[in-house]
Amino acid sequence: MNRRDFIQSTGKGLLALSGLVFGPTAAGMKSAAVSPSGIDHSVTLFLCGDVMTGRGIDQVLPHPGDPLIHEHYMKSALGYVDIAQEVNGPIPKPVGFGYIWGDALAELDGVAPDLRIINLETSVTTSDEFWPRKGIHYRMNPDNTPVIRAAGIDCCVLANNHVLDWGYPGLEETLDTLHKADLQTAGAGRNLEQARVPAIFDLGKKGRVIVFSLASASSGVPSAWAATHDRAGVNFITDFSSASVNMIADQVRALKRPGDIVVLSIHWGSNWGYRIPSGQREFARQLIDKAAIDVIHGHSSHHPRGIEVYRNRPIIYGCGDFVNDYEGIRGHEEYRGDLSLMYFVSVNTRSGELTRLKMTPMRIRRFQLARASGEETSWLAATMDRESKRFGSRVELQEDQSLILDWGNAELQK
Ligand SMILES: [Zn+2]
Repeated sequence: MNRRDFIQSTGKGLLALSGLVFGPTAAGMKSAAVSPSGIDHSVTLFLCGDVMTGRGIDQVLPHPGDPLIHEHYMKSALGYVDIAQEVNGPIPKPVGFGYIWGDALAELDGVAPDLRIINLETSVTTSDEFWPRKGIHYRMNPDNTPVIRAAGIDCCVLANNHVLDWGYPGLEETLDTLHKADLQTAGAGRNLEQARVPAIFDLGKKGRVIVFSLASASSGVPSAWAATHDRAGVNFITDFSSASVNMIADQVRALKRPGDIVVLSIHWGSNWGYRIPSGQREFARQLIDKAAIDVIHGHSSHHPRGIEVYRNRPIIYGCGDFVNDYEGIRGHEEYRGDLSLMYFVSVNTRSGELTRLKMTPMRIRRFQLARASGEETSWLAATMDRESKRFGSRVELQEDQSLILDWGNAELQK
């Protein structure tokens, strides 16, 4: 029985009112968080930033959708395939469903995280009802959904600035398609109540992981996309105010039990640059202090940003894009947006504290992930160290070319 079948067979009988509850998955990374009773209390999460399988990438997958797009300069999604090929060489299309993940698949197999969570930065639909006055619209043909399954993804967070690109029919089809593929979602729904429902994963004796997904206006999500009691949309906040903290705290309080790890996956902030506005930083800390969040999984920036550990809880301000079709697009070269990180976050479920944060450097070429080169890895290590130092953490390059976060708490770090 493979891992996915196991999740399905154990998960179906455990429906909870608040969301789907899943059974235990494959063993996580080895950890010292083992109690005298022999129970392993360590949970390892795989996190990454934007997985943009729409537009150009959809066109190289086995079932490309209608390539028509409504951008100022580009009228066909195939244009993005062309410019990527001009820069990096031919893409052997159609590619298989595993193609885009490349070396990430072996890394996922090697680490064997308990859960795999991505920000799916596209709608999954054949809808033609593009959102008016929005410059860019991402869609992936529903027949290409196996591409998500090919990396064993458990959870797609959807509160972002592309899930409604092809209108309300597009959102509905996205939800239906992902659920039919037994992928859990959070952050978008047919009304506010549904959009707020987190994904809940029961890892047996290890406890539960609860994943909330939230979109902040600061990442360019139109306020009209906010779900309401009688309108579909995303779980949305307009600002980083204490009212927003309290709203999230109420949602968490209603569900969190001792032993639960709560992840807040949030699309926030700008696309480029390393600066974290003080209001955003304060908001993140308040989420840990007042809303009992254990892991903040931030995304929207097209390149990785610094990481803060506050009260032994990680704040990943920006994971950076993971998969996109930007290879032929010029500009912002200094941020090296073709480089990305796989984040493996290990947490002790008894205390909620971070025990290890490992990052594996990757790069994308010809719409496929590969391990970063030595030079690229060193650059990422230096950049992550420089940016995390502002928050009191350091990033160290390991012999195996992975990066480890050191947040100065030797007792907890394994
Ligand atoms: Zn975005």
